[in-house]
Amino acid sequence: MQFACSHVVCNWRSDGAGGSVSRPEYENIVGVKQQKGQLPPPLPPRHLRKPRPSSLPLDLIHSTQPSHAPLSLSPPVPPRLDLLGDVIRSNVNVNVVSLDVGKLVDISQEEGLPNFQSPVICEKCSAALSCLSSVHEKVWVCEFCGCKTGVDEGVSRLCIGQRAGVYSDDLYLPKLSDNDYQNLEDTLVVFCVDISGSMCVTTEVTPESGASVHISRLEGVQDALQKTLTSMLQHTPHRRVALVTFNDEVVIYGDGTRTPLTLRDWALLDYDHIWQQATAYRIPHCIAETHHHLIQRVKELMEHGATALGSAALAAVAMASRYPGSKVVLCTDGRANIGLGDLEQPPHPSSPAQTPFFYRQLALQAVEKGVIISVMTFKGTDCCLADIGRLADATGGRVNIVSLGTMATEIQSISVDNVLATSVKATLLAPDGVYFPYETESNKLVREIGNVTRGLEITFQFAVKPDVIEVFLQKNTLPFQLQLNFKTRDQQRVTRVLTEQRPVTTTSRILVGKLNIAVLDVHCAQLCASLTMEGRVQEAQNQLQAQQDLLKQVSKLRPIQKQENIYGNWMETMTTICDDITTGSQHVLSDEAAEVVYLMRRASSISNKYAKVQKKNLRQKKALGEM
Ligand SMILES: [Zn+2]
Repeated sequence: MQFACSHVVCNWRSDGAGGSVSRPEYENIVGVKQQKGQLPPPLPPRHLRKPRPSSLPLDLIHSTQPSHAPLSLSPPVPPRLDLLGDVIRSNVNVNVVSLDVGKLVDISQEEGLPNFQSPVICEKCSAALSCLSSVHEKVWVCEFCGCKTGVDEGVSRLCIGQRAGVYSDDLYLPKLSDNDYQNLEDTLVVFCVDISGSMCVTTEVTPESGASVHISRLEGVQDALQKTLTSMLQHTPHRRVALVTFNDEVVIYGDGTRTPLTLRDWALLDYDHIWQQATAYRIPHCIAETHHHLIQRVKELMEHGATALGSAALAAVAMASRYPGSKVVLCTDGRANIGLGDLEQPPHPSSPAQTPFFYRQLALQAVEKGVIISVMTFKGTDCCLADIGRLADATGGRVNIVSLGTMATEIQSISVDNVLATSVKATLLAPDGVYFPYETESNKLVREIGNVTRGLEITFQFAVKPDVIEVFLQKNTLPFQLQLNFKTRDQQRVTRVLTEQRPVTTTSRILVGKLNIAVLDVHCAQLCASLTMEGRVQEAQNQLQAQQDLLKQVSKLRPIQKQENIYGNWMETMTTICDDITTGSQHVLSDEAAEVVYLMRRASSISNKYAKVQKKNLRQKKALGEM
């Protein structure tokens, strides 16, 4: 857990009036001196803090505690206005917590962590007994909800541990039965390839050596697939690979060694039939045995006809569903116009959301089965990426618009088995009276994440209900607990529980040194993308504006240029997208805009690969609202 602000700011209000309810008498409760080292470093460059004036007291905490430890309870320090340092005022909710899920589910590095059979859970709120708990006469009063639970002394000593009152990170691994074990090599890649008529459109390509040639989209895909299959043969010969194609029909080739199964006409519209047929098709053998057959199948592909994309995606997910952690690579150049998930039918008046519903449902089923779907489309086409991109967004896959030149690299890159955990569920607990804006009014936030690959970071903001502010301030600190439930790749069920506490303040004046701008930026990117996908463009615009104001204030006080290069440009792009939607005639995202929005949904401070977004000039493409 990484917090954007050292303190919980109790009086932030969503209407931006938080500053006006600042109550100076409370400011005595928390020392508001600037403290160095309390924020975990986010991403390079690390020059987050303005050099402190020499008159400030030295930080004592940093030298005695590991960097991941939260603030200890330093005694209240009366505020001395001359020591307050640089002050900024902002409408941005700085109560943001970031969860580095990609790292947390990677338990192979965590051998030193405690390891128990199962946590002691509060019956009422499901909080786990932790370092912050105290047990008196075998009774634990839950620090989140106040509910009482009887606890055995031995257990409580074990769970509370030696780091009582500070920070804990506990792993719980139930015993594994033999038949739960699964071979890591047993995952599938299903290539689901569009061979509709439009795939004959040609593009001029200039190879590294030689004169330029015109090749069709299908030829480009065939070339990329052959390269990918050969690369897999060399590097992951035990990987199982399958092929599914679609036009007027869906053809399941499996590993290419058997007679293909063709679905057409009514069969393209029957969800259960497709699922059943595809799961019953013979399990593909590994690429070492099937390479030659698959290459032959790929070479023989011919383009013609319509685009039964939805039905084909369903068949591919069904095939992949046999092994959690499997992948579907969906490659298309047009919108679905036949079968399930038809995106060209005018919306039915009684259920306008019908077609996206198919993609939502398929995405949910894929998440449940641990299947990751990546979607790849061609530059200059229109595939309703906003809709089919949901498949990737929900399952942890990627959304890419590629050119023929980069296709082979992209396919190889997304085919790599990089799933760290499946069936991941995050539960974030805060005390009664805390809520999660945009998520839930409750103090308990549950997020089904599904598949997790490296680098996944999710962020939430929280706020305090006005009627409990005084109660919280008397407590000085508030507990937070993250419970992550997941399955490792060898099917081990794991519960990881992180618990820590944060000091409380009501001050409306936020010190620059107390903010982790990287966390706030990532949160802003994720939130704005989500709001935009939901059509809440005005809210996204407000968030962007507030964040930009905050950055402006911060940058006046300390150097953050490089971060602004990474995030500032996203914001510009995102602002452009939002402006175009609000001024456009239709509230439809172009494929180019959808690609950016989906990238931002997966914004992360760990990687700056999304920085390539800044190179896209969406304004030029004039892509929005014109379809
Ligand atoms: Zn409880």
